[in-house]
Amino acid sequence: MNEQNKQHYQEVLEHLRTKGVRITETRKAVTAFIINSHDHPSAEMIYQALLPQYPSMSLATVYNNLKVLMEEGFVSEIKVPNDMTTYFDFMGHQHLNVICEKCGRIADMDIDIPDVKHEAELQTGYRIAKSQRTVYGLCPQCQKKQVLS
Ligand SMILES: [Zn+2]
Ligand SMILES: [Zn+2]
Repeated sequence: MNEQNKQHYQEVLEHLRTKGVRITETRKAVTAFIINSHDHPSAEMIYQALLPQYPSMSLATVYNNLKVLMEEGFVSEIKVPNDMTTYFDFMGHQHLNVICEKCGRIADMDIDIPDVKHEAELQTGYRIAKSQRTVYGLCPQCQKKQVLS
């Protein structure tokens, strides 16, 4: 884990502790995995990756952990067109997910985004459960294919 990720990891665990969430070994593992992940894994992918180390962990446990992280605003879920799978993303660094509507490839776009959740709560009084940061389009590969065909 690099220094920045280590910091994110400590912050998340600290935040969960103050919320009274029990910090289990699997919670630590799922949290570390999503923070270190360079792409956007599904719950199934996280489950498969952690299974050798945590053989007693279930897929439901992974989902449950992701749900807690989502509720606290650390993780967002990503839906890709024509794909039933839900992908997950750690939102530690400010970025937008740019999704190809054809092949489902997800790219990260680094951009300073205002704290939408916080701003929305301030301005509307809603208690915000989640906010999506997603842009849809056609990736460079699919653009090339379109020209060829
Ligand atoms: Zn594409
Ligand atoms: Zn992302």
